[in-house]
Amino acid sequence: MRYALAARISAGALFLTLGWIAYTQLAFTQNPAPGKLTLNKVKDDLYEIEGDGGNVAVYITDEGVILIDDKFDADHQSIVDNVKSVTNQPIKYIINTHYHQDHSGGNAKFLPTAEIISTAMARTNIVEHKQGNIQPPPVSPARITFTTEADVNLGGKEVRAIYMGRGHTNGDAVIYFPALRVLHTGDLMAGTSPLIDYPGGGSVVEWTKTLDNALKLDFDTVIPGHGAITDKAGLKTYRDNVEKMRNRVSGLIHEGKGQTDVAKFMETEYKWAPNSLQQQWSLPGMYAELK
Ligand SMILES: [Zn+2]
Repeated sequence: MRYALAARISAGALFLTLGWIAYTQLAFTQNPAPGKLTLNKVKDDLYEIEGDGGNVAVYITDEGVILIDDKFDADHQSIVDNVKSVTNQPIKYIINTHYHQDHSGGNAKFLPTAEIISTAMARTNIVEHKQGNIQPPPVSPARITFTTEADVNLGGKEVRAIYMGRGHTNGDAVIYFPALRVLHTGDLMAGTSPLIDYPGGGSVVEWTKTLDNALKLDFDTVIPGHGAITDKAGLKTYRDNVEKMRNRVSGLIHEGKGQTDVAKFMETEYKWAPNSLQQQWSLPGMYAELK
C-alpha cells in the first residue's frame, strides 16, 4: 500500500508539472474545447474528476449530489456523464472554491438545475472581472455566498466550505468533508509553485497562514486544485515550499535586487516562463508585498 501510494504521488507530481504548464498558458485566455476527464474513487461516496481544469469532487448522498467546482464551460456534459456513471442522483449543489474559470466556468450550465455557493469575494471577483489584463470568457457567479463558512447538509451528510484567509485569491474556500476526513484545497495547493493572483486579491504572505489554518482540521486525504490526490503531509510540504520560495525572494529584494532580477530568478528556479500568468499576475504584486 505504501509503495502504491508513493508511486501514485510521484506520477501525480509529474502530471502536476505538465498539467500546470498547460493550465497557466491556456486557462485564462480562451475557452478551450472539452478535455478528457477521468473519474477516480477517493473514499466511500466521494469521487474526483480530474483532467482539463480544476479537480472536481463528487459527493453522493441519498438526496442528491454535491459537486466541488465545475471546470470549464466546455466540460459540462462530460462532468454530467461522469457523475451519471456512479449515481442516478441529481446534482443539487455546487460549491466553487474560487472564481477562476477552470473551477467555476461550468456555473452557467448548472445554474438552472443546481444551487451554486461561493465566498462573497469569489462572487465579487467574477462580477468585477478581477483578472488583471487577461480577458477570459465571462463566468456566471454563485447565487448564494458566505463570508466565513457555509455548510451543506444533504441526505445525512455534511460538507463544510470555509474561508480561511487570502492566498491564491482573496476568496478561496477550502472544502472539508468531516466524516471522510478529506479536504479539497482549491488552488491553495496547485502546481509546483504558487500562482498568486494579485489582481484577484491574492497574497504570498497570507498564503502560508491560510494553509496553517487549514492544517488544523482533522483530515488524512487532500484533493488539490490541480494534480493528484495527496495526504496531509503532502499539503504541509507544499505549504513549506511556499514559505521557502517567499524567503528566497524576500532575501533577493533585501539585497537590493530589482523586479527584473527577481523575474529572471523565478524563471530559472521556479520555471515561471516569460509572459506566463505567474510573471503577469504574481511577480509585480509579490515584489511590492515583500519589499
Ligand atoms: Zn485558480
